[in-house]
Order: sequence, then structure tokens, then C-alpha cells
Amino acid sequence: MNSNQFDVIVIGGGPAGGNAAYHLSKNNISVGFFEKSELPRHKVCAGGITRRAAKLYSPDLGEISENECSHLELFLDLKSPKPFVSSADSPLVTMVMRNQFDYALIQLAKSNGAQIFEKTLVKGVISKKDHVEICTDKGQFQSKYLILADGAAGRLAKLLDWPDHRRLVPAAEIELPVNIDIMARFQNKARFDFGQITKGYAWVFPKRSHLSIGILSHNKKTLRIELSRYLKFLGINTPQKGLNLKGHMIPMSPRKAPFIRKRIMLVGDSAGFVDPITAEGISYALQSGFLASQALLENNMKLKGVKEYYENAINKEIVREIRIALILAKIIYGPPALRSFLFGIAGDHFCKALTKIINGEKTYFDYLTDLKSYRHFTSRLYKNLFPALKDS
Ligand SMILES: Cc1cc2nc3c(=O)[nH]c(=O)nc-3n(C[C@H](O)[C@H](O)[C@H](O)COP(=O)(O)OP(=O)(O)OC[C@H]3O[C@@H](n4cnc5c(N)ncnc54)[C@H](O)[C@@H]3O)c2cc1C
Repeated sequence: MNSNQFDVIVIGGGPAGGNAAYHLSKNNISVGFFEKSELPRHKVCAGGITRRAAKLYSPDLGEISENECSHLELFLDLKSPKPFVSSADSPLVTMVMRNQFDYALIQLAKSNGAQIFEKTLVKGVISKKDHVEICTDKGQFQSKYLILADGAAGRLAKLLDWPDHRRLVPAAEIELPVNIDIMARFQNKARFDFGQITKGYAWVFPKRSHLSIGILSHNKKTLRIELSRYLKFLGINTPQKGLNLKGHMIPMSPRKAPFIRKRIMLVGDSAGFVDPITAEGISYALQSGFLASQALLENNMKLKGVKEYYENAINKEIVREIRIALILAKIIYGPPALRSFLFGIAGDHFCKALTKIINGEKTYFDYLTDLKSYRHFTSRLYKNLFPALKDS
């Protein structure tokens, strides 16, 4: 094969592209892997790897782990300082720095023969009947298939006139060194505050020797002010001007199918695969990269089979999950009074369920189809609405 030709070209050095490249190259498929930045590259991210994501990640997570959190704290209500807590014997969320996490996957793909083109910007894509061509600042390349993993802000799907239904929401974070006393307060727990931010949430994730603190909010203009307010609320004093705040968009709802057109497959943030409650995108990025590779491998690269496999798998494993979570997200990010009322009734149940979901033990679909969850909720609702009848 000519050095400019591959079986599959992957664009984007995040977990979606990295995982697709790794699984394909492991199975002797020739892969050309393109990333515009120098590797390892920085990615604005809190770096919380849920157990659901960890199960899909092939490199040794222990080697790059900054911290392991076996407790989740969910603060849902401004009035109540008491969080809902979920704990486990093993880590629920492993904290990493994204440059190391993403690079370990790329190195694994490279060791399996994937050809890595870093500092190579892909400027255009031409979709032909039996192959795909890409134009980069280092020349033209060709492949039988293209996996587009260019992230939330990637422009290539737009250039291909791919309809975009994603709702991109801004998020920002700081990596903040703090003293030992503050560090100790947040050790071993991933903290989420839903009550503090209008239509969004804030988080504190402990790394090895600093905290990742950030917010996701529908209002881009107030991100900095809201983050400063949140830091104050936490009792962490920093000068507002000195905050080294870094931001990026998160797709809080996906595109609509199809996710494969001709010979081009969309994965990760580029497709809008993010959990709309937690804004966790790494597990769906890894999973969609894996499913794209499996669609190609299982069908011997034959287009009809690849299309069918990929659309079905993405719908069942990812889109159906996101659609269910979107309904719940409406409540969580909706009117605070409704959220407080509903969480007063079933907050502990919700917290445990969410833990099982991010653990990869259960899915949103499992809960939707489990009659016991409704019985539990309706009996709690009944007792709450008619307390006088509680013991009758
Ligand atoms: C502030 C913030 C905090 C977050 N925290 C978490 C968290 O704790 N846990 C979690 O699970 N998720 C988190 N997320 C979401 C998570 O970062 C994304 O869902 C995830 O990175 C998606 O991976 P990806 O591979 O699809 O894309 P990305 O990781 O964004 O990778 C896309 C890559 O494509 C490259 N690229 C783009 N265009 C081109 C081009 N034309 N040519 C070549 N290369 C190109 C980019 O340089 C980039 O490296 C957070 C997001 C933000 C913004």
C-alpha cells in the first residue's frame, strides 16, 4: 500500500479517535491517525474517569492515576448543606490529566502499527463512492473509511454538510494548587454542586496535589463570575483576575442519526455523545470509537454491513441511553423548586442509581424498564404528599 493510503483514517487524538485506532491496528488494519496538535496535547477537561469509562480503556490506568475517589457527593439544594453520598469499596472515579490519558492510548495504537501524524491539521474531506480523501497541511491521504473524532469544536462534519443537532454548552475549569488543609477536605471524593449554578453544575475533583474546580453553565458570559462565587462558597480564596480559567464546549445533546454517511463515521463529541446529566463524555467517546472499529472488523469492511452494525450499535448502546438521560436532565437542570421536591422524595435512590450507571453496572434503560424503580418512587411520593396516611 502507498504511504499515503490506509484502510482507515482517524482524525482526532482524544479518547474516541485513540480507541478506534487502537482496536483497528490491534487487528492488523492499517491506520493513519491525524492530530493537529503536538502530542501529548493538552485538553481542557476535569479528567474524571468513571469506572464505566475505565472498563473501556486498555492502557494501565493505575500508571497515570492522580487520585482515586470512592465517594460521590451530590449537593442538590442550596438550602440543604447535606449532600447525597454514594460510596464504594473500589474507585468510582479515577482522576487523571488528559494529556497523559489520551496519549497512552495513542502510544498503544502506535505500537500496533498505526501511523501517527501529529501537528497535522486536516483542512478538508472529500467523500467518494469507494474511498475517502483528506487534505492536510502535509499533503493528501486516502482510505477506505474515515473515523471523524475531531471533538466538540471540530469543523469537519460541518464542512461535509452533516446536520448538527447538538446543544453545545460552555464549561470552564481551573487546575488550582491549594494548601494541605483544603486538599484534605476534598480528598477521595468527587463533589458535584447542582444548587449553585443557574442551569448547570459545579464540581471539585481532587488530583494528586491540586484541585480541578469547574462549572458548566448555559450562560457563557457569567462563567468567570459564577466560578469565583463558587470558590468563595467553598471557602477558597483566590484573586478573580489571577484565575487561569480554561474553557471549552460540551455537547449536552447528540446529533440525530445517521452517524455514518457513505464511508465516514462520527464518534465521541463530534457526534454529541455525552451524558446529559453528568456531562461525562469520555466513556461514550471510548465506546463509540470501539463500536466504529467493531463495525469495520465484524463486517470485513463491507459497507452495507458496516452501516447497519454501526447505526444499530450506536443507537442501542449510546443514543437510547442519552435520550433517557435527557428527560432526567430536564428535571435536574430545571426549576430548583421541582428538583428539591423530587429529590427530597427520591434523592438517595437517584444517587445510588446514578452511581450504578457510572459504574457500568446498570444502564438508564435498565432503570426505565425496571418496575421496582417506579414502585419505589410512587410509594415515596404517596407518603410525601399524604403524610397523615403514612402509618394508617
Ligand atoms: C471543562 C470540561 C470538563 C470535562 N470534564 C470531564 C470529565 O471529568 N469526565 C468526562 O468523562 N468528560 C469530561 N468532559 C468531556 C470530555 O472532555 C469530552 O467528552 C471528551 O474529550 C471527548 O473526546 P473526543 O475524543 O470525542 O474529543 P476530544 O478529546 O475533544 O479530541 C478531539 C481532537 O481532535 C483534534 N482535532 C480537531 N479538529 C482537527 C482537525 N481538523 N485536524 C486534526 N485534528 C483535529 C483536536 O485537537 C483534539 O485533540 C469535560 C469537558 C470540558 C470542556
